[in-house]
Amino acid sequence: MKMIGMIGGMSWESSAEYYRLINRDVRGRLGPTASARCLLWSFDFSEIERLQNAGDWNALTAMMIDAARRLEAGGAELLIICTNTMHLMADAVQAAVSVPLLHIADVAADRLHAAGIEKAGLLGTAFTMEKDFYRDRLAARHGLSVVVPGAEDRAVAHRIIYDELVAGVVTEASRDAYRAIIARLVDAGAEAIILGCTEIMLLVQPEDSPVPLFDTTTLHATAAVEMVIG
Ligand code: GLU
Repeated sequence: MKMIGMIGGMSWESSAEYYRLINRDVRGRLGPTASARCLLWSFDFSEIERLQNAGDWNALTAMMIDAARRLEAGGAELLIICTNTMHLMADAVQAAVSVPLLHIADVAADRLHAAGIEKAGLLGTAFTMEKDFYRDRLAARHGLSVVVPGAEDRAVAHRIIYDELVAGVVTEASRDAYRAIIARLVDAGAEAIILGCTEIMLLVQPEDSPVPLFDTTTLHATAAVEMVIG
């Protein structure tokens, strides 16, 4: 089993899920006492959030590269960035290390293709829904058609992530809000919904959606285990 290097803490609520899912899958494959060989670099998310809001993506890229290099130096043989948003600098991170980086959008796209989905709704932070790094990767590299919520829905989805989910707050009102946004994406033709933020799975479950959900946290963790165990 190879060692996974996790760039996490964005937020720790979802990194904890990654840790649990990765170990669960290793146990399922290798036996009851088996667990993952892994390293976790965990950022202080308040610092990340501040730099995101300031639009200082250069500083964030430098921090992500530094984390990746430390994990590689520590023996990591596969890197995962445990957030969708911070895949904005995934190419720069990959260029700075010699171990492979498993891109979360590639994993999601593979699973969507396997399920025969051509048009998917994308939920995530405003950065993920509005900047082109994620949608373009799904569209240009994987040939998927991506539909994002309207401006008002994007603002609601973003606010719930940053004000509630990263702080461990899960409310019925926010679940209802996400259900309504999902319903509008389905009306717009989405055959499936990508939970393109690693905390949304804490709020939204399959029963909240009339179409299949593709939870990037679970898919990414599972794909990482497949790669390190082979
Ligand atoms: N975990 C989130 C994501 O998957 C948001 C936190 C962040 O900005 O990294 O996008």
